[in-house]
Formats: sequence, structure tokens, C-alpha cells
Amino acid sequence: METITKVQEMMERRKGLEGRVGFVPTMGALHQGHLSLIERSLKENDHTIVSIFVNPTQFLPGEDYERYPRRYEADRRICEVAGVELLFMPEVHEIYGVDEVGIKAPKVKGYILEGYFRPGHFDGVLQIVTKLFHIVRPDRAYFGKKDAQQLYLVQKMVRDLFWDIEIVPCEIVRDRDGLALSSRNLYLSPQERSQALLLSKSLKRAAKMVQEGILDAQTIKAQMEEILAPLEVEYVEIVDREFNRLDQVEIGNTIILVAAYSGGTRLIDNIWI
Ligand code: AMP
Repeated sequence: METITKVQEMMERRKGLEGRVGFVPTMGALHQGHLSLIERSLKENDHTIVSIFVNPTQFLPGEDYERYPRRYEADRRICEVAGVELLFMPEVHEIYGVDEVGIKAPKVKGYILEGYFRPGHFDGVLQIVTKLFHIVRPDRAYFGKKDAQQLYLVQKMVRDLFWDIEIVPCEIVRDRDGLALSSRNLYLSPQERSQALLLSKSLKRAAKMVQEGILDAQTIKAQMEEILAPLEVEYVEIVDREFNRLDQVEIGNTIILVAAYSGGTRLIDNIWI
């Protein structure tokens, strides 16, 4: 595996690649969720490029940018063992200059739910994804359903800007007890971790209600909120696959989302119905 830290070198190296290029952008502290994206890319493409970059512009002031886990050596080994060909790990000054042209997330869909509680977050996400897409020029890029709104907005950006890149949505990988894997789980104490299970528990309950024929969003949300009561909840929402709020669950076109704090750690999870 080759590790590249310079933008120019990455662009040069990309030019020499023939066939299909798959790309997996990450912020590192890699876990099985990331690995599932990487393995899928390895299977579906001639070349796979993984990036690790803790992107400062998607963190709001006061969020965990400084403390975000950085485990570059362990991550490098994980990628190497997985069979990744190229690992791109640029430093911040390689990616960002001063007084830059910006990318703006859509005013509505970029500023509800995650975007409401983290205003500007998706501007930063779409800005880094744009930069990385231009550097790596992938044919396919792999994103987890875990960050459902991010996945939707990246798909929307690619459509809106007539970009010839296939965005591949990947299933959420969970621990055996249901907790969705996340680099931020590293922050959790054992007690906070067991409280964090309430997120997936509430979503499981919602899925069961739908199975039983209960489709009314208010009824489902009320049940979920009851389960989530011990946590500080930011939102519980039921939307369609284009992130329009739903009053009734539409089977095959619904995402149920939750964001809540366990201790000081903000966690998100969702289920696709
Ligand atoms: P991150 O490093 O958190 O920015 O995540 C990089 C990519 O991995 C994103 O597309 C995430 O949606 C995806 N991802 C993170 N956690 C999971 C998970 N538990 N299952 C599937 N994909 C995930």
C-alpha cells in the first residue's frame, strides 16, 4: 500500500490509474463500518483509494475537532491488511487555503435535522467531498447510511452539479448489541455506552410498530421518545428518502432518525423502512 500526503502527488498518481476507481472518504479511527465500505469498493472496482482527513470545516466551534480520535498508525495497518492500494492522508494546510471559494449546502435540506443542530456542518462536508472528488476523480464513492442526511446531500450535490460519479450507499454496521459503530463511541464510558443502546432500541421498537401496521408518525415518535427519555434527545424524526417530513410511514420510502447525547457524546442513528 502506498500512503500519499500531498495533493499534487495524489492527483498525479490518479492520472496513472486505468479502470474503475472506487473511493472511500473517512475521518479515520477506522472500525468495521468503514471496513465494510472499503471491502465493497475493493470488490467492485479495479482500484480503491481511501482517504483519512479530519475535516476542520465540518466541525462547529465548541465541537470535538481537537479531541476527535486520530489513530493514523492503526488506520494505516487496517487499510494495508484490507488490501487498499492507495491511502490519502493530507494535512490541513494541503487542503485549505485562505479566502476560499465556498460550497453551500442547500438552504432547506442542508439546514434541517443535523443541519439545524449543527448549522454549517453540511457546508463543510460538501466542501471537503468536492475537494476530495476533484483530487481523486473516482468513478464510484462509498458512503454509509449511518450518516443518512450526509449521504442524501452528497447524492443531491452530485445530481445538482451533473457530476459523473456513482454514490454507493452502504448498510449500517452495528455491534452485536445493536449500537451503530462510530468513531465517537470511543468517547463513551461503559455506563454511557449502555445508555447509548437506547438509540438503536428505540429504532428497533419503531420498526416493530411498522411491522405491526402502525404507520402514524406521531404515535411512533412518542414511543421512541419514551424509550429515549433517559437521554438528552435532539431530534426524533420520520422522513422520506428525500428528507421531507412524513405524517405516515411509507414502506420502502422512509428513514427514521434519532440524535441524542449519551453523557457528553452526541450520537446519531437511523433505520430505513
Ligand atoms: P466518518 O469517518 O465518520 O466520516 O465516516 C466515513 C464513512 O463511513 C461515512 O460514509 C460514514 O457514513 C461511514 N460509516 C461510519 N460509521 C458507519 C457504520 N457504523 N456503518 C456503515 N458506515 C459507516
